[in-house]
Amino acid sequence: MSDQPEEYRPDPLTPVLTRRWLLPESWTLRHYTELGGYSALDTALATDPADLVTLVKDSGLRGRGGAGFPTGMKWSFIPQPKPGEEPTEATKDAPQFKPKYLVVNADEGEPGTCKDTPLMMADPHSLIEGCIITSWAIRANFCAIYIRGEIVHAIRRLHYAVKEAYEAGHLGQDIHGTGFDLDIVVHAGAGAYICGEETALLDSLEGRRGQPRLKPPFPATAGLYAAPTVVNNVETIATVPSIVAGGKEWFRTMGRERSPGPKIYSLSGHVERPGQYEAPLGTTLRELLEMAGGMKDGIPLKFWTPGGSSTPLFTDEHLDVPLDFEGAAEAGSMLGTTALMIFNETVSVPWAVMKWTEFYEHESCGKCTPCREGNYWLAGILQRMNAGQGTEEDIDTLLDVCSNVLGRSFCALGDGAVSPITSGIKYFRQEFLDLCSQQQSPAPERVLAGAH
Ligand code: NAD
Ligand code: SF4
Repeated sequence: MSDQPEEYRPDPLTPVLTRRWLLPESWTLRHYTELGGYSALDTALATDPADLVTLVKDSGLRGRGGAGFPTGMKWSFIPQPKPGEEPTEATKDAPQFKPKYLVVNADEGEPGTCKDTPLMMADPHSLIEGCIITSWAIRANFCAIYIRGEIVHAIRRLHYAVKEAYEAGHLGQDIHGTGFDLDIVVHAGAGAYICGEETALLDSLEGRRGQPRLKPPFPATAGLYAAPTVVNNVETIATVPSIVAGGKEWFRTMGRERSPGPKIYSLSGHVERPGQYEAPLGTTLRELLEMAGGMKDGIPLKFWTPGGSSTPLFTDEHLDVPLDFEGAAEAGSMLGTTALMIFNETVSVPWAVMKWTEFYEHESCGKCTPCREGNYWLAGILQRMNAGQGTEEDIDTLLDVCSNVLGRSFCALGDGAVSPITSGIKYFRQEFLDLCSQQQSPAPERVLAGAH
């Protein structure tokens, strides 16, 4: 987390999730426990699982992985036996009698997104405590944390924290003498962006090539090994202990009515102090820029992403858009992963859009034609344009291909891939036209300015 001057915090209630991050050895069990860690677990284990689900529902917590699905509602979809219901020969294979699983999506891969990795580095026990509470709530005895294989430092830290939690009796058999058993496994992926899509992640976890499954059925009814599974993002799960400790009213004092609670925003690009900034949902870029020391070298803002490159671009007209699920949607974008990539006026939009499209072309899993072929053609056209060989018709061709990818792809990757192109052309059409009419590539310094 960047060093935030106190006076710029828009709400005195935050930080919540990042409050331990700057302390020495914040990742150790000793420090976590000294600061009240694992006390929410005792409260949770003394609470009926169904009441915990209701608490999280009432808190209004929504998924922090990008889509904002209500967390408590997702948990409530896990089929449970009715009170006193025992399996019979006819019902023994029914979903309510299958094992339940919790899978944490730590495959943070959206371009610009850097919130879960620092959380796992600085405060892994908040995630582990959240996993135990969530598993108790959904009656799971097995939890897998699926983490990006490239972030070896975070994998090691998680392994160490899980080991500490076992040794302290927070994991394993008969946790805190309650009779509840839970095992956590940290599973490293192999670097495919698509494995962040929850069903591709499940396939990968089962040992298969990671490709999205048809939904429905959603993982809540048929997930890992076809059993009921909750898949939640790291930040979502790490938020749970604070809700158990602080209560739903406290949680709702932060953020907005339909998007309550704190959020970690990651700012990168042309800002003075890039980093992670925790603030209540609904905080604007103008406020976040103040926290981050403003635009780098005072060069004005040109465009930015509210939630990674899969969300439509914003411009300086959107500085006061409340960055929560509704605010971003009303302004024509999505909150996504709250990865704010900030670009100043030296950066070429067609060049930045080309780089993102090359990423999607590379990461398309190839399962469906619109995304596999569409991104290939989109990248090719953008490369031609940026090489100074584009024509004005290419702009219409780009939009035409985008319209054949959007809504026709098998998973969200296809839809996300066209967002920067369509919004880039919407707000900066003249720049695309100039690039084509001048028949020259963007000046090298404009390209370089965007390259860091
Ligand atoms: P989604 O809206 O399809 O689903 C969101 C969650 O709600 C899923 O867990 C899904 O199983 C659940 N859900 C939705 N409807 C349901 C129903 N009727 N019954 C039961 N469960 C239901 O979104 P998605 O495809 O999972 O995710 C897309 C988002 O992922 C985008 O907003 C994007 O910002 C984000 N994303 C994040 C990263 C990252 O690195 N964190 C990377 C790429 C994309
Ligand atoms: Fe694979 Fe892309 Fe189709 Fe998703 S949209 S299934 S990533 S080809």
